[in-house]
Amino acid sequence: MKFRHIMVPYDGSDHAKNALQYAKDLMDTCPEARISVVHAVPSSYVGTDRMGTEGALDGVPYGMLDYEEYQGVVQHVLDEAKKRVTENLGDTLAGLGDRADVVAVAGASPADALARFAEEHDCDLIVMGRRGLGAIRGMLGSVSFGVLRATDIPVLTVK
Ligand code: ATP
Ligand code: MG
Repeated sequence: MKFRHIMVPYDGSDHAKNALQYAKDLMDTCPEARISVVHAVPSSYVGTDRMGTEGALDGVPYGMLDYEEYQGVVQHVLDEAKKRVTENLGDTLAGLGDRADVVAVAGASPADALARFAEEHDCDLIVMGRRGLGAIRGMLGSVSFGVLRATDIPVLTVK
């Protein structure tokens, strides 16, 4: 099986790091493959998220912003999230050049945003952790379960 575009949903957890390593190993066997490392921010809470993005709308009543202003705030939060994720990745993507990119997306929930990205960008495989930053117990976290449910694209989960 030759993969062309692998998405790795990334929250900075050890599980997500293991998933990224797994995807990188897969890429060795698929010279044409590229990888998108995608971090999702739930748009309901353009506030403090676990990758360290500051709450851009903290204390601002919703009615005070028109749509364009709101879009601007969301874009700011996504830019900040992308910066944090890139910092968190360090040199993990070094050597991949333009075969890898880092993206931050917003959506109603992380799972919806991730599934939408994968569909819109023709990803043919999703490699993600089974658990994430909220790991306590159980088989699957809510984001991995939500992505599995929201898309027909094959999902490979990594511990
Ligand atoms: P929960 O969030 O339900 O408490 P959890 O944190 O243990 O559970 P998940 O959040 O489902 O588990 O994490 C499983 C995998 O999903 C992670 O390893 C990562 O690959 C991906 N993931 C989780 N949150 C995000 C996010 N905000 N953006 C991108 N990928 C994410
Ligand atoms: Mg989580």
